[in-house]
Formats: sequence, C-alpha cells, structure tokens
Amino acid sequence: MKTTGTYRDTIIEIDLQKLYDNFLKIREMNGPDVSVMAVVKADAYGHGAVRIARTLMDAGAAYLAVATLSEAMELRSVYPDYPVFILGHTPDQYLHYVIENHITQTIFSYDQARLLSRYAEKQNTIAKVHLKVDTGLHRLGQVPGEAYRKEILRMTKLPNLEIEGIFSHLALTNREENEKQFHSFTDFVRTLERDGLSFQYKHISDSIACVDYPEYRLNMVRPGSLIYGMHSFHLGYLPVVPAVRFLTRVSELHRLQPGEGVSYDYVWRAQRPSIVATLPFGYVDGLFRSIQGKGYVSIHGEKAPLIGVMCMDQCIVDVTDIPDVAPGDLAIILSDGSDGAMTAEEASKLTGTIKNDILVSLGTRPERIYINDPSE
Ligand SMILES: *Cc1c(COP(=O)(O)O)cnc(C)c1O
Repeated sequence: MKTTGTYRDTIIEIDLQKLYDNFLKIREMNGPDVSVMAVVKADAYGHGAVRIARTLMDAGAAYLAVATLSEAMELRSVYPDYPVFILGHTPDQYLHYVIENHITQTIFSYDQARLLSRYAEKQNTIAKVHLKVDTGLHRLGQVPGEAYRKEILRMTKLPNLEIEGIFSHLALTNREENEKQFHSFTDFVRTLERDGLSFQYKHISDSIACVDYPEYRLNMVRPGSLIYGMHSFHLGYLPVVPAVRFLTRVSELHRLQPGEGVSYDYVWRAQRPSIVATLPFGYVDGLFRSIQGKGYVSIHGEKAPLIGVMCMDQCIVDVTDIPDVAPGDLAIILSDGSDGAMTAEEASKLTGTIKNDILVSLGTRPERIYINDPSE
C-alpha cells in the first residue's frame, strides 16, 4: 500500500483495469448497435468521477451521465470535450450554465426548451436535450399523451434546440409493469416519429434492465452500478467485478479480561480473555453505524468481527482467534470477497440497505488510490 496524501492508513483502492473490463463486458453484451451511457453520478458511486471518467471514455462510453449541474460542471472543468449528460432537472436560473458548458440536458417542458434555445442563440451554439417521458415512475417527465406531444412539436420549431434523444426510466416492479412502461414509451416514440421527429438516442434501461431485459435496450443503455461490479440483476448474468478495496491497518491491540467492555456504553463485553484491535476508520469513512455487531473485516485472511459501538473515526474488532495480529497489519473492510472481506452486497444485507447505498456512502475522507490504469 502506498503512503497516502492524507497521512493515514485508511484508503479506498480503485482498480481502473477492473472498471475498464467491466465496461467492455457491458458493451459486448449490448452489441455494436447500442451506445452505452456511463452513469457517474454521486462521484461515480464513490469511485471518483473525474478520475475514472477517462477510463470509461477509453473503454467506449458514449456519454458520461450525472444527476446534477454541479456534477456536470466538475467533469467539464477537466474534460472540455467529453459528452456530458444531466439525468436530473436543472432549475431555470442555472440553465445558462448548461449552454456555456455545452452539456446535454434532460427536459420535459416547452418553457425550458425555449430558455435553452434562447441561451444557445446568444452563445451562437445549439442546445442539446433528451426528452424525459414518465411511463409510471412519476419521478420526472410528462406522461405520454396529446398534451406532451403538442409541447414537443412546438419545441421542434425552436431555432437553437436539438432534440437528440428521448428516454424513460423503469420502476422495475415486475415483468408485467415493466412491459407496460416499455410499450407506453415505445408507442409514444413511434407517434413522435410519425410526426416527423427522429431521435439519435432512445433509452430506458439502467443496470438491471440492460442485463435482465435485452429487448428493452433500444439503441442506448444507462448502466451505473453494473460498471462498478454490482450484481443486481436476477434473470440474466454478466460477470462484472467490484473494483473497490476499502483498506486500513491496525493501530493498537488491547488484551481484555472477561467482563471488560469496549467502546461507548460497553455494548460488547469480553466473555473470555480476549485480544481486540483498534482500526482507524469509523462511520464517517464509510459503512453504516448499524453494521456494528454484524459485520467484520479480514485480517490475515480471517474474519475479525466488528464489536462494540462503531465510533466516528475508529472501530474495534475481535482478533482473539487470529494468531499473531500486530499493529500495522492490513485489515480489509470491503472488497470483491476473494480475500475473505465483506462485499458491498454482504454489507448492504447486514445493514438493511442496497449495494449502491454502500458504495455511495463511502466517505470523502479516505483517499482514493488508483491502481492498474490501463492507459499507462
Ligand atoms: C442512477 C440512474 C441510472 C443508473 O442506475 P443503476 O441502477 O446504477 O444502473 C440510470 N438512469 C437514471 C435516470 C438514473 O437516475
């Protein structure tokens, strides 16, 4: 492990070659006719959007997709030319930044289309947008129908607006509901196409849908968690692997007599003569406080249970059954599981959440260390 710029042993190691390979697998699965938009919102699910963007573009991403304007502008400040897409709503008063930074925006109203076209005219450029259609999730977009169709037809008259794409999002409730959503989307697209519109990109599939429902891929997919190696699919399969290892090192060992406690409130007390190790990571660094008493780290390839209350910056594990643990020894908090550590999936089950939640909750404090850059 390299010495870190944050002068501590708790780091998040990210294997860029694994991300690259995952992305190639996604592209191969989808075939040459389907463009892959790489979802890198929430700082690329904790992986560091700016740093991994280049790897994903090298692997053939058609777009980098984020949730917010500030995420888009962060990417734009480093990569002047990469196509960047905002999946979410941008309030009117910020739309001029979208144009100045030549970002592609999600819209669902004539009013925003007109504003974007006007700003684009001033900048002597073209505003690129994808139309959002609400097929049931009731999160963003207008429902497909006459009112939306008329609004869209008015948009086509705007001089500096390019309607590059159209998309929707699945609730992934069950096959029947998915089918309903998918057909409501494609029927609406067909209506617009009969009106003379044509869309370079049509998309509805996230990570789960693009594996489980190949027939929904249209000509673009929007995977996020799949890139980061999460297996959330149920029907299909793709052998993507996690690229993150969350690592730390033992700070100190304590020998306890039966009855002695550890950490606040002594919620854990030694039942036998015990050796416990203090680790310099806490709930601020990642993992939820609710994992205490349930999770473990891997030391010398063995499971060391997290005991007592997890503190903000430190936690304690029981190493009584692991021979010869010493200060400075490596402790693996999260990984792909091959080294005996918890996976994000296991941690999510133990804390009652989902895999994405574990990844995006990795703290900003641990330094990200990037290894195996395929472009080097
Ligand atoms: C976050 C998001 C995605 C990616 O979701 P995953 O489940 O991580 O693949 C795709 N589309 C939209 C609109 C999103 O908000």
